[in-house]
Amino acid sequence: MIFHAGAFGPEWFADRAFDVCVIGTGPAGLSLARRLARHGLTVALMEGGGTELSFESQEIYDGENVGADYWPLSASRRRFLGGSSNCWGGWCRAFDAADFDPVKHHPLSGWPIGKADLDPYAAETDEVLDVGAAEDMPASSFGKDTGDFRQIDFRFSQERLLAPRFMAELRASQKIQLFLEANLVDLELDDRRRTVRHAIFRSFMRPEKFEIQAKAFVLCLGGLENPRFLLNANRQIAAGIGNQHDLVGRFFNEHPHQNVGHVLLREPMLNREFYAPQRHLIEQQEILSFALYFSPVRQLSFTHELIRSAACNVAFIERLAEVVRGTDTRCYVGGLDDFLKQWRNPDIMLTGTLSIASEQALDRESRVRLGDDTDRFGMRRIELDWRYGELDFRTIRTAATAFGELLAESNVGRLKIADWLLDDTAVFPGTDTAQVGGPHHMCTTRMSDSPRQGVVDRDCRVHGMDNLFIGGSSVFATGGYSNPTYTIVQLALRLADHLAVSV
Ligand SMILES: Cc1cc2nc3c(=O)[nH]c(=O)nc-3n(C[C@H](O)[C@H](O)[C@H](O)COP(=O)(O)OP(=O)(O)OC[C@H]3O[C@@H](n4cnc5c(N)ncnc54)[C@H](O)[C@@H]3O)c2cc1C
Repeated sequence: MIFHAGAFGPEWFADRAFDVCVIGTGPAGLSLARRLARHGLTVALMEGGGTELSFESQEIYDGENVGADYWPLSASRRRFLGGSSNCWGGWCRAFDAADFDPVKHHPLSGWPIGKADLDPYAAETDEVLDVGAAEDMPASSFGKDTGDFRQIDFRFSQERLLAPRFMAELRASQKIQLFLEANLVDLELDDRRRTVRHAIFRSFMRPEKFEIQAKAFVLCLGGLENPRFLLNANRQIAAGIGNQHDLVGRFFNEHPHQNVGHVLLREPMLNREFYAPQRHLIEQQEILSFALYFSPVRQLSFTHELIRSAACNVAFIERLAEVVRGTDTRCYVGGLDDFLKQWRNPDIMLTGTLSIASEQALDRESRVRLGDDTDRFGMRRIELDWRYGELDFRTIRTAATAFGELLAESNVGRLKIADWLLDDTAVFPGTDTAQVGGPHHMCTTRMSDSPRQGVVDRDCRVHGMDNLFIGGSSVFATGGYSNPTYTIVQLALRLADHLAVSV
């Protein structure tokens, strides 16, 4: 059943109690609530926004970037039913087994759980995200000998907008009550400060707060908002809930996405190929993991690039294009200039591009913290201090150099490494020319068996709390190189099974 929270007064909510209160309806919250319902549990599913993008909800996501160049915080996520699945690209890939393992030269790395803990949820994750079957990998340009690399594939969500797909199911559900415009503003803890008694919400329509009572509470607010909420929840615990070791919001991790060079090809390429490093390359070079995207230059269409150029220069058209296509306009690629370059010089089809999405090192100082400015509910807004360091830069440079060697040795082509990678200032190109990140917001309430190294335990339970859990990529112990949403959903489904036996 679906309700507008503002339609009811606080007394209406006071009469109700649920097994689990799930807060947030992105991929984490939606998949968790559905599986809990299938276990027969009653679920209050709370969403701060409505069914559409609205200014009043979206502006709550505004915040300030005080670190490395990053997108405006409100633009890198969506605050309404379905969360950022309303704008994601649909790239899916489960983490590799090695992504969970500790790496000697990466302090704090290693997850308390492994791939085998998440594999049982792969089939349901495919269903939730509507991931198509794996396509046959294109034959590698290098034949069988890919040297220091292994060819990998990604799969893609077919129907990327999650909320519309689940609307009928949510409406008909006897177990899930979805409340729209229900903004979490606080948690009430018991006297021991270990158990959440109820969660406190505000709607946009009414000034009064209302409470939801449940046996367990799960924050699925997104990788930036989970820590923001915990830090703001400082009425009963001054440092914020779960922050007894000053870890909430720390270790903010992205997947730096950068163009690392152009390839002059001997033969035109037909398909995009993806490569990840072999384990020995990571260990010998003491770098992190990554995915290289080796792509042919696409034959650009005049009409398409004309529309893209218009959309990128006229805000209204950009917005319209986003609404129609359900994704951003990708102003950093293509456009009329590129079309004209290709038209004047057909040889350009003998070039390829090499770009990277890489794993980032854990850095305590890369973090979400609270600024002084507050939103309409009095919650302090985010200051994001994204940092990257020598290991991140060296990983990308080593990836490009080693791949360049493979291209040359196999005589597939020659790589011209991007100028910024040869520059020892070690600064990534910023948002004016590059994609910079996923946007993937990870590790800000990371998972660890030790409360001194992480905010949640292996069951996604906040250390020190009995009935407070977290869903989403904020619990990732490390970010790996794969896009996060597939793993987010696997973790949410696993959490549902844990809650089914523990509440
Ligand atoms: C442009 C773009 C492209 C992307 N492409 C990909 C991709 O190709 N592949 C991939 O794997 N990932 C991609 N991502 C990342 C992906 O969208 C996120 O990993 C995913 O949506 C996170 O899911 P989540 O449920 O944890 O959080 P979110 O999707 O952020 O959902 C959080 C939910 O919580 C709600 N909420 C927030 N605060 C409150 C509050 N106080 N009270 C109540 N409700 C609240 C929000 O409204 C929202 O519904 C992309 C992201 C962007 C922005």
